[in-house]
Amino acid sequence: MTQALNQTALITGASTGIGAIYADRLARRGYDLVLVARDQERLAALAERLRGETGRTIEVVRADLTDPADLARVGALFAGDSAISLLVNNAGLSMTGDLISVDSAEAERLIALNITAPTVLAGAAGKAFVARGEGAIVNIASVLALLPEMFDGVYSGSKAYLLNLSQSLAAHYGAKGLYVQAVLPGATRTEIWARSGKDIDMFPADWVMDAGDLVDAALAGFDRRETITIPPLADADLPHWQDMQTARAALDGKLSRRDVADRYREPALA
Ligand code: NAP
Repeated sequence: MTQALNQTALITGASTGIGAIYADRLARRGYDLVLVARDQERLAALAERLRGETGRTIEVVRADLTDPADLARVGALFAGDSAISLLVNNAGLSMTGDLISVDSAEAERLIALNITAPTVLAGAAGKAFVARGEGAIVNIASVLALLPEMFDGVYSGSKAYLLNLSQSLAAHYGAKGLYVQAVLPGATRTEIWARSGKDIDMFPADWVMDAGDLVDAALAGFDRRETITIPPLADADLPHWQDMQTARAALDGKLSRRDVADRYREPALA
């Protein structure tokens, strides 16, 4: 297990769920923390508990990350504090329906929290970390990034975006000291389900992971410097994932050509 000395982690969505578990685990690994979310009371209670249990320095920042001014204030912390070496882009929401059934404001809120906020923060953190030649960004995506037909596409698309962004940042800046990890949880027992009007108990019990187990597995992947960590994917099924990555890589160099593919030259069937 990596022990962090004189390093600070900034965690978004740290007031509950996966983010609060990251706060617990990272404090025990020796990180000082900056905890970001809207619920000041919950953040303060978590910070007080973790200060008492770990002796770490823990700062609380109340921010609504869908608010551009709050987002800019949080983003500015990376340039201002050179001790921050880890960003956990965790805050996220799910909608009460899909794009057709919800009010468009709900979809816009999801995009602001699940796409705009982690992008702005990854940009701010990435600039500071690359300038220093060291730092890490963890983006909490979802297995739904791989399963767009299964769920609302605004949510799954936001997670596919984070996966894509993580892979691109890792490819372009890994050699410059930036480590980027995308974590793809499956269904995990947190408030996100009730907050979006869903009952997690609609799933068979063996589909649902405990948030503590999820974060411990994600940190095992972090220690191994994995770019993509999928805690629920069983070892026996790993070859399917690896085949998919190999098939995707085989398309490289074949997707941009002057010539249209022959099949589009055929006349359309009547
Ligand atoms: P959660 O229990 O609902 O927690 C969400 C966190 O985000 C809370 O701390 C919440 O705090 C914060 N948040 C919500 N809106 C915010 C806003 N406008 N500004 C700042 N913070 C905000 O959800 P979770 O399951 O732990 O989700 C964490 C991440 O895991 C999300 O990105 C989610 O998409 C992803 N994920 C979850 C599952 C699952 O099954 N649970 C599966 C795959 C991926 P406040 O309310 O205090 O602001």
